[in-house]
Amino acid sequence: MLAARIHAKEDLRLDAFDTPTPGPGEVLLKLGAGGICGSDLHYYFEGRNGNFIVREPLIPGHEASAVVEAVGPGVTRVKKGDKVAVSPSHACGRCEGCREGREQLCSNMKFLGSASLYPHVQGMFQEYFVMGERQCYPVAGDLSLGEIAFAEPFAVGLHAVNRGPDLIGKSVLITGAGTIGCVTVIAARLAGARRVTVSDILDRPLSKAREVGADATIRADRDADALAKPQFDVCYEVSGSFAALKSCVAAVKRGGVVVQVGTLPHEPLPFVVNEVMAKEIDLRGAFRWGIEFDWAVDYLSTRRVDVRPLLSGQYPLADAVTAFHVAADKNKSTKVQVVFA
Ligand SMILES: [Zn+2]
Ligand SMILES: [Zn+2]
Repeated sequence: MLAARIHAKEDLRLDAFDTPTPGPGEVLLKLGAGGICGSDLHYYFEGRNGNFIVREPLIPGHEASAVVEAVGPGVTRVKKGDKVAVSPSHACGRCEGCREGREQLCSNMKFLGSASLYPHVQGMFQEYFVMGERQCYPVAGDLSLGEIAFAEPFAVGLHAVNRGPDLIGKSVLITGAGTIGCVTVIAARLAGARRVTVSDILDRPLSKAREVGADATIRADRDADALAKPQFDVCYEVSGSFAALKSCVAAVKRGGVVVQVGTLPHEPLPFVVNEVMAKEIDLRGAFRWGIEFDWAVDYLSTRRVDVRPLLSGQYPLADAVTAFHVAADKNKSTKVQVVFA
């Protein structure tokens, strides 16, 4: 079997391994679709994701669907042939964060496809891999493997909205119209937002945001005035840009809430403390997700939400390098996936 491994900056190879065997409580999975995320792009194009540096070959990929190929002794949750969404979050279940029901704050987290720990926690851009059955969420019906692989990014959008206030009747701004911006649009509408506005610096992402339910869009680079006056109850900063965070702080009403979802560059940033203070803004962080992964699987399974407009391309795992380059071009792509082929 083949696995896509990042050896260093812009050095991704398809390396061959023996197909693993599932032990007790484990499941052998065949990759369905694996979404390429911003963090995967950072690992490939920079050899690092913020402070997490590739120090040994890293298999990226934390947004995946799969088909059950075989089950180990004692597995009851799935059977051979099931389509599954795979949760990449291995929280310990024992620390204070876990016991408070916030597994994303687990102090012993092993998150798949991440160089945050050494040895790295390998991800799912490989033809076959073994998971504990607890990580496998069976999905019945005709949902495609490509759609099932949206469970992870959609969970990020649901968690972002869950970290903010009740949205019924509220006007919302989302800065950034990539996959996470768009799934945050979907989540904000599920939560009852009255009006959802999205900003970005490219037209294609904004047209996708409208397709999935944004009421209005703003070109942040051309129409700075539209983001200068306080008019939104809640803002979600998804783009990972400090300029966008400043826009959120300027555009949120007095007493409003700003939720930081995107990862900003790691250089020291001048901060907008006085605005946060004088407007009594609640500034909150949203990191990954917890129970929202389960919700995402349910919303997708019933097609209560439709993420198909966000899937812009699929490439065989063997063409992972091409897939990474296409995924990086935001004029062409929203979500690009690698698939077993
Ligand atoms: Zn991701
Ligand atoms: Zn924990």
